Amino acid sequence: MKELVLVGRGGEGVVLASQLLADTFARAGFWVQSFPEFKAERRGAPISAFVRWADTPIHRRYKVRDCDVLAVVSPSPPSPQALRTVKPGGLVILNREGRFPHTGPFDIARAPASRIAREHDILSAEGRPMGNVALLGACVRLLLPDGLDVLEEAISFRMRATAEMNVAAAREGYARCTRQRARTGDAPLELAPDTARVGAWSPPLFPVSTIDSLGVHTGSWSLERPVLTDRCTGCALCALFCPEGAITRDDGSIAIDDLYCKGCGICEVVCPVRNAIRMEVVAA
Ligand code: SF4
Ligand code: SF4
Repeated sequence: MKELVLVGRGGEGVVLASQLLADTFARAGFWVQSFPEFKAERRGAPISAFVRWADTPIHRRYKVRDCDVLAVVSPSPPSPQALRTVKPGGLVILNREGRFPHTGPFDIARAPASRIAREHDILSAEGRPMGNVALLGACVRLLLPDGLDVLEEAISFRMRATAEMNVAAAREGYARCTRQRARTGDAPLELAPDTARVGAWSPPLFPVSTIDSLGVHTGSWSLERPVLTDRCTGCALCALFCPEGAITRDDGSIAIDDLYCKGCGICEVVCPVRNAIRMEVVAA
């Protein structure tokens, strides 16, 4: 049995990608499982989805804790916590154009999935490229090299109206996937240490949340940040729609709090003034 974890952000099609991959393996004759794990179900929040495939029925029923393959749908680098889940000798597949200048006890492969999505006009409602299906092309090349036709069948069956552009993206992800060779100068990946348990644990008397929304610094989820221009009129319409309350108006001037801005882009979409605010990629 092989186990794969897809990681990304809410709204990037991570769950759909896991279902398409499971369908692909099922069509190729494997037994499969696919299921997601959400924390708070919010656009931009970290999300994982799991895929298992095997030649025989799968009896394991819990989330994948140690994976053979980690597929990173977001164009941002994987977190140390996500990398810790990869077994020695496993594989990390990145949505990335340039080298990931690190080494670890696993292989690294990458495909320019976001670029491919943009070239095929596969965009989210906010206009961001959805690299999920292009990354699936890379996954299939590395995990089921004869399976591109089967992936195309799965995409056509599921996506119907948008199947054509997604099949094209999957083909390009398959073709443009490269394995990364280690070079001198690549830094070893620093894996996060195990979390040490402090003191004896006892169950709470009733379910409680120990943190409020002020304590959750959603700014760490951002792949993009809004930038105001001098065309901003200070109308504060964007502040009404910001789901994180990250926009404030004080004495007529607008401020955006990077600690809480999760980069969803809603402010750019709702702004009535052309070019008053634009999303820019956060430097990795
Ligand atoms: S960015 Fe747009 S919506 Fe926000 S205050 Fe400026 S003009 Fe208004
Ligand atoms: S400031 Fe804009 S991008 Fe940031 S969370 Fe609010 S609406 Fe989303």
